[in-house]
Amino acid sequence: MSVWKEKENLGGEVVDAGVVILRTSGCAHSRGGGCTMCGYNQESSEGISSEDVIAQFQSASKSLDGTQFLKVYTSGSFLDQREMPLDAQREILSWCRDSGRGLLLESRTEFITEDSLGAALQVHDDIEVAIGLESANDRVLEFAINKDMTVADYDRAASAVKSAGARLRSYVLLKPPYLTEAEAIEDAISTAKHAALMSDTISINPVNVQKGTIVERLWKSWSYRSPWLWSVIEVLNACAELDRKVVCDPTGGGRERGAHNCGGCDEEALSAIREFSLTQSRNKIQVSECECHCLWETIRELEGLIVGGTPDLQRFFRKHGA
Ligand code: SF4
Ligand SMILES: [Zn+2]
Repeated sequence: MSVWKEKENLGGEVVDAGVVILRTSGCAHSRGGGCTMCGYNQESSEGISSEDVIAQFQSASKSLDGTQFLKVYTSGSFLDQREMPLDAQREILSWCRDSGRGLLLESRTEFITEDSLGAALQVHDDIEVAIGLESANDRVLEFAINKDMTVADYDRAASAVKSAGARLRSYVLLKPPYLTEAEAIEDAISTAKHAALMSDTISINPVNVQKGTIVERLWKSWSYRSPWLWSVIEVLNACAELDRKVVCDPTGGGRERGAHNCGGCDEEALSAIREFSLTQSRNKIQVSECECHCLWETIRELEGLIVGGTPDLQRFFRKHGA
């Protein structure tokens, strides 16, 4: 179990939010292979009981003083009763209700039903449900991400969340494997536009290279590079037009496994991205131009001309002194 506090924009005000990651039996989909970029289930373990999950939460709740909002992640689906038995769900929901905190929970679409939502909302009516849409393109969902979900599945679940009276947060993946940088930017922008039809919040999630994943295998063979921070900024600037709350906190940002630029301008780019998420400013993100901006533009054009893969051209140029 992990617990920490972070800032969140809640109704226009920046507040402290608690984040709790519970160790559970893990995502149902990961048992059948899982998503190409997801290594969360390395931490999961079969046979974690309901009592164990409740004990983890009770221990975490001691560190949440001063927070006004809670995010509970399970590395899977909060609404999957095999992973989060009903009494564990109720324990967390009632703690949030009694302490006056809104709760963000995540779920795959197949566990989002009128019944599962109804049962949760009966305990606590201040819930935000996060769904990993990832891409609004079924071919990307199937062949690049192996999400085992279609856009129609997302649409049905998103509409169930809204009809039940909960808020909806949608995750948009930036740069699944096998997409060039330019294709990834285009895919993330069109996915965010689709998500905006029903979502209250859109979270842009740049891929980071997690251990034990297909993405890691590709990355080790120079066939994958996590997105440039310039790409993250371009997507966020496009999303600023959507009139929705848009957030982004690149995991591993500025490092080789996370979204990164040249190393020299990463800190400035990351702090602009975080500032944008917190303030929800509709102004475009401004970062002083670094010479790597030109390399990013060149790579965007070159990648499209290479047949048969999406090599990490920046590493290639660095190694060969170009
Ligand atoms: S990304 Fe979500 S759905 Fe995919 S394997 Fe990971 S936890 Fe499961
Ligand atoms: Zn730079």
